[in-house]
Order: sequence, then structure tokens, then C-alpha cells
Amino acid sequence: MKILVTGGTGYIGSHTTVELMQKGHEVVIVDALFNSRAEALDAIETITGKRPEFEQFDLTDNTKVDDFFSRHTDIKGVIHFAAHKAVGESVNEPLKYYRNNLVSLINILESMKKYKVGNIVFSSSCTVYGEPDADNLPISEKAPIKKAECPYGNTKQIAEEVLEDSVNAYKTLNVIALRYFNPVGAHESAQLGELPFGVPNNLMPYITQTGYGIRQCLKVFGNDYDTPDGTPIRDYIHVMDLAKAHVAAVERMANGKMKKQFEVFNVGTGKGYSVLEAIHSFEKASGKPLNYEIVGRRAGDIVKIWADPSFTNNELGWKAERSIDEMTKSAWEWEKAYRQGKTKFKVEE
Ligand code: UDP
Repeated sequence: MKILVTGGTGYIGSHTTVELMQKGHEVVIVDALFNSRAEALDAIETITGKRPEFEQFDLTDNTKVDDFFSRHTDIKGVIHFAAHKAVGESVNEPLKYYRNNLVSLINILESMKKYKVGNIVFSSSCTVYGEPDADNLPISEKAPIKKAECPYGNTKQIAEEVLEDSVNAYKTLNVIALRYFNPVGAHESAQLGELPFGVPNNLMPYITQTGYGIRQCLKVFGNDYDTPDGTPIRDYIHVMDLAKAHVAAVERMANGKMKKQFEVFNVGTGKGYSVLEAIHSFEKASGKPLNYEIVGRRAGDIVKIWADPSFTNNELGWKAERSIDEMTKSAWEWEKAYRQGKTKFKVEE
């Protein structure tokens, strides 16, 4: 099957491309390289032995999107990753987020309608649940959607609404929205992994960079929360497990297995780990203590959330398999390989 993967040079997109190609699917990547690197294509080729097709353009440009679909008439499905994702930046530059994340989706849907491409998998997020009430944990897809804490989160909520309204109007359209929990880790080859530009916002790349000595000290944002060790709890999921969930989703659509035109699945392990537990798992992987200090809370942080993945396990036929220790180990192997110049990526300071 030929699949368009938007954002396919990014963190989750590149790992999913590897998994799709290894399952025998053909991938065309569209990416503007706003927040990713073209070397991801080399890395994908190193792992799979094949280079995915690639076009570099901005999906908010409707002329280019239309032109793309007019030339690729054999595309059977779309996985739409391309989006901005930094919570803090979205607060300071909301219009950048609304334009990029929503206009690109609308352009893609218009072209899918025009060129009769029926299936799209959308990257959504557990951020749509906000801070779950205690009796909603673990959180299922039926839990209420809460008002978004930031413009980034709001773009995910609005996008789900755009998709739901679209399937109601256009009978040829099928949508699966995957609500990711916290993707971490790297491909087992250590040729691909998470590589943020600049200072990482997310926990795991900050941990691995601190472990390698790129950052001096990890700041743990608060240990006075209502959790067993006082630090917030997340459902960390290995990026290769997440990649497999996308393959399951596109194959479900292609095989006509959907129960309704718009389906939503939680993609998590069902287990929650605190920030300190994630650090301790990393310390086991690296074999040395991590330099960290407790500082004040980060504004807007969720205290605890983890998935009820039972609907996804039963209905999508997918289950996360890798443990937290496999996540931190693979993230560490990737960080070392990258820093030591053993990957296709140029080493940046
Ligand atoms: N975190 C931290 N220090 C950091 C980055 C993150 O203590 O430098 C904590 C953060 O407060 C949260 C958890 O790690 O409790 C996961 O944060 P991340 O930004 O990776 O994911 P999100 O908050 O979006 O779930």
C-alpha cells in the first residue's frame, strides 16, 4: 500500500516510516523540515535498505498540497504527523500553531476529498483529556474532553472536531485519531531517535543529554504533587510500539475493519511512571547516577495521567510490548550513537 506520511522526517514519523516499510508498504514523505532533519531519510534507508520518496514543502500551501495529490493518484492512505508541538511556544505564538496545525489538516482533507483518497490517521494526544478526575484513571476514550490548557492542545481538540464534522458530511472519508500518551525511546538500531533542536522541552531527551554531559543538570519540575513520590506521573510509550499502532490503524482502514467512520484510540501502555521512576530507569540503563535537582513546578503540568488501553488492545489488535527500561535503554543507546558520530545525523552542539 502506498501511504503519504506527513512529518515523516520527525521523531514519530520517521520511526513509523521504518515500521511501514518493513511491513512492505510504500511511503511518500512530505515534510517542510521546520523541526526535523533530512538525514532522517538516510537513517531510514540504513535501517530498511530502501529510501522513501520525499518531497519538501509546507502543507499550509494549498496549491502545493493539491499539486502533490494530483501527481500521486495511487496513495491509499495518509498518516498526518506534521505539526508544531511545543506547549510553551504555542502560548507565545498561538497563531503560528493555529495556522500550521489546522490549515495543513484542512488542505489535506480538501485534497483527499477531491482526489478520492479515503483514509487518514491523525496524530492526536492525551492532552485532550486535560487533568483527569481521580475516578477517570486509567483514562479511557470515553472520558470527557477538557478545555485545553494551551493553544497546542487546542489545535488537537479542534482538529478532532474538524475530522468528526468532515466524516459526517463526506461519506468517503474514514478517520482514525490516535491519542498518544508520552512517546519516548528510539529504534533498536540506534540509527534513529528523538533529536530536538536546541534545549529539549521534554523529559527523556533532557535526561539522555544530561547523561551524556550536554546539559549539566536535569531540573525536576516539582516533587510536592499528590503522587507517591511527589513527582508527576505519565504513561511513557516506546516509539516503536507507537509506530506499530499506526501500521495497525492504516491496515484496519484498508481492510475495511472500521466499525464507524471516525474512530479514536488511546495509545499508551496502561502503566504510569513518575519523573523520578523514569530517572531511575535511565540510571540503570546508563549504569551511573544522573545529575538532577528538584526545582519549582512547571506551569500547566498535568499531575497524573495514564491510559486505559483496553479498547485499543481489543479493537485495534495492538498492545504496547516494551517496558520502561527498554525505553530508557534505547534512548540512551541512540544518544550515545548520535553524539559519537555513529549515525547519519550531523552532530550539533
Ligand atoms: N519534566 C521535568 N523536567 C524537564 C522536562 C520535563 O521534570 O526538564 C517533567 C514534567 O514536569 C512532566 C514530565 O517530566 O511531569 C513529562 O514532561 P514532558 O514535557 O516530557 O511531557 P508532558 O508534560 O507533555 O506530558
